[in-house]
Amino acid sequence: MSTRTAVSHTVLSPVTEAPVAEVPSLTLEETDAAIERAHEAFASWRAVAPGERARLLRAFAAVVGDHVEELARLEVANSGHTIGNARWEAGNVRDCLNYYSAAPERLFGRQIPVPGGLDVTFYEPLGVVSVIVPWNFPMPIAGWGFAPALAAGNTVVLKPAELTPLTAIRLGELAREAGLPEGVLTVLPGKGSVVGQRFVTHPLVRKVAFTGSTEVGKQIMAGCADQVKRVTLELGGKSANIVFADTDVAAAAASAPGAVFDNAGQDCCARSRILVQRSVYDEFLGRLQEAVSALRVIDPGDEASEMGPLISAAQRDSVRRYVGEATVAFAGSCPSGPGYWHAPTVVESRRTDERVWREEVFGPVVAVMPFDDEDEAVALANDTEYGLSGSIFTDDLGRALRVARGVEAGNLSVNSHSSVRYWTPFGGYKQSGLGRELGPDAPQAFTEEKNVFLAH
Ligand code: NAD
Repeated sequence: MSTRTAVSHTVLSPVTEAPVAEVPSLTLEETDAAIERAHEAFASWRAVAPGERARLLRAFAAVVGDHVEELARLEVANSGHTIGNARWEAGNVRDCLNYYSAAPERLFGRQIPVPGGLDVTFYEPLGVVSVIVPWNFPMPIAGWGFAPALAAGNTVVLKPAELTPLTAIRLGELAREAGLPEGVLTVLPGKGSVVGQRFVTHPLVRKVAFTGSTEVGKQIMAGCADQVKRVTLELGGKSANIVFADTDVAAAAASAPGAVFDNAGQDCCARSRILVQRSVYDEFLGRLQEAVSALRVIDPGDEASEMGPLISAAQRDSVRRYVGEATVAFAGSCPSGPGYWHAPTVVESRRTDERVWREEVFGPVVAVMPFDDEDEAVALANDTEYGLSGSIFTDDLGRALRVARGVEAGNLSVNSHSSVRYWTPFGGYKQSGLGRELGPDAPQAFTEEKNVFLAH
């Protein structure tokens, strides 16, 4: 394929399967031109006084805040997210911008005691940094990259996923409306193999912040090695929800569907393996069935919708293959007719080498397995190449701490399923990723720490 040929991508509604928009897929030449403009913009953006950069980020947050409903409706149309989730996602971009708008005025270096002079450190911006976004959470994942990167004084080129570019494109327009200078945040829709790959190879791009599959993440990491390019990776997961017999089993069962079926299971933090202590296994499964039957899998634009369709026909077919191989315990309901629907499905796993137990399904499927004691629970939870998140349900504080320390994952929650909050660091162990996003230190991840010694 010639990279000079202008091509476009037809965005389909996951609900109706009808075209929603036609979006250009940028060529290599257009990508290079945008990277060069971002490089030119960097010289003046890094020189913007910290207070003024903070003000511009707050203005951007305010404009996003004024457009939450519009952005949310666009995400329902493009991605089939429930309207409730989509409003939260747009609000999350606003909140993330507000949080990191405090960073330019607080990007402190250190003064280090040394003999013979004064030693100080500076956090210098990298230059043009790139953010590569997957299709499952188009708005939040974009914001987790661009908000701290801009705050630290970088300019940003951002590639949304081909399937879900619409809200990112709109966020790029809103940045300009809020007063961000041209070239400071540029959204470049297109193919991973063209636009995304160019972020890896273009020498003016100084960092790749990638969120997506472990397979592509590995290729990006290998590609970045060539220029020793900075890279952070947020990849897949196969997280465990561990339910001990000493917990409120009814409460644990009631919350379990939300932890895996939210966003139709297309969530890197989905608790897609449930480990249940054997003495309460049958009770838990019975209560889980009640909760799954009650889940409202309906048109995501309906205020009452709790789960929408999958993103694409290919994703639905992939999920069906996993279910076809598994022992289905029970399933909820979903609409028939058009749309990439799949009912929320609970399978029982007898062996840890089943595909549905080991691989990231990225759909509304959860595998359940009994365990006997704490050691076995931790060992089963850790028996995976991933390590992104997990939940522990117990009333025993000591056990909660022991298991939280024992599970090899970046984000654990006790008696809840919380994992991504912009105030706290987020990222994975093992093949779930490299580096951390969010939290108070995120701007530093888009800087170089420079040491300067001044002789007396
Ligand atoms: P993907 O890896 O196929 O694509 C992610 C992005 O990378 C897309 O924008 C794609 O166009 C781009 N890309 C593809 N090939 C590329 C290449 N060779 N060079 C540069 N860019 C390229 O992933 P996906 O299917 O969009 O997303 C689902 C995956 O993302 C799941 O595995 C999920 O677990 C993961 N995910 C991880 C997190 C996290 O924070 N850990 C969050 C959300 C999603």
